[in-house]
Amino acid sequence: MGKVILTGDRPTGRLHLGHYAGSLKQRVELQNSGSFEKIYIMIADAQALTDHFDCPAKVRSNITEVALDYLACGIDPAKSTLFIQSQVPELAELTFYYMNLVTLARLQRNPTVKAEIKQKNFEKSIPVGFLAYPVSQAADITAFLADTVPVGDDQLPMLEQTREIVRSFNQLYGETLVEPQAVLPDNAACMRLPGTDGMAKMSKSIGNCIYLADSADEVYRKVMGMYTDPKHLRVSDPGHTKDNPVFLYLDAFCREEHFSRYLPEYQTLQELKEHYERGGLGDVKVKKFLYEILKEVLDPIRARRKEFADDIPSVMDILRKGSIAARKTAAQTLERVKHAMQIDYFA
Ligand code: ATP
Ligand code: MG
Repeated sequence: MGKVILTGDRPTGRLHLGHYAGSLKQRVELQNSGSFEKIYIMIADAQALTDHFDCPAKVRSNITEVALDYLACGIDPAKSTLFIQSQVPELAELTFYYMNLVTLARLQRNPTVKAEIKQKNFEKSIPVGFLAYPVSQAADITAFLADTVPVGDDQLPMLEQTREIVRSFNQLYGETLVEPQAVLPDNAACMRLPGTDGMAKMSKSIGNCIYLADSADEVYRKVMGMYTDPKHLRVSDPGHTKDNPVFLYLDAFCREEHFSRYLPEYQTLQELKEHYERGGLGDVKVKKFLYEILKEVLDPIRARRKEFADDIPSVMDILRKGSIAARKTAAQTLERVKHAMQIDYFA
């Protein structure tokens, strides 16, 4: 059997630069590498509802936004199956059976979920569906027998949880499911892009994002307003580059050729960082450089997004067809799971 990818995003907002750096860019490269027999890209609406159950309209409207972001970045429906999670009910059925293989204590230990519970003020009363979403992610991945999951590093605990479920299942009921591997971006700076406010992660839920759909003016405004080193007040002051999101974005996006194009006084990022650390280099100059680099990334994405946005019925048709195809595969896996669990009474 060939290699299979499953990955996806929650329709809780438009996709942002963090998604692009952490996952989308690599997905497109993997898609075009020709090394995968099947690529499934899921819009995780059921998962989004675990912490947005009270705003279904938001989840609904972001289905097309996320799909547009995918297409704009180069996800090609001829090569990748784009589908909507809730339209594949087999995933919910798999989740139900996998829940038996996971303890409450194990779910509560998940560091990403722990951080999200705090961020969402769920500490006093955690919706069961939210706490259990890593189990539903295991269902999403295993339903397609995916062996490769390209994600940002906040997803590593989910992959570990999935592998544990696969091992338990196979041990109890016989070899049925495939143990997946996470694929992280090779550039460490892309694994978790910070927010423009300097917070640890750019995240739709926090609203510290540069969105792929932002206009050039909005991107300029956001870059110029970015948090930097608060102690770097005057140009002559020495500054920090380590926890400075402007430099972290440069780590993620800057290539040497950008210097000759936009900032020929320097040749490498190291040289630029050393100048900033010494003092004598102002934030505005570095931010303008970053803006030019982001413009190169975002201009073509924005232009393609606009083209697809002019024909939403075609986008919905891509998702409808993808969901039908995904359901077929998930149903085959569910059948094998039920057979392994001896609940295939009428087979
Ligand atoms: P939410 O706040 O609703 O959870 P999000 O911004 O975290 O939204 P998700 O849909 O949860 O986005 O994440 C989808 C994918 O994007 C995952 O693979 C995740 O690792 C990756 N990702 C999200 N934010 C970042 C980021 N700031 N840097 C790198 N990768 C990211
Ligand atoms: Mg998230």
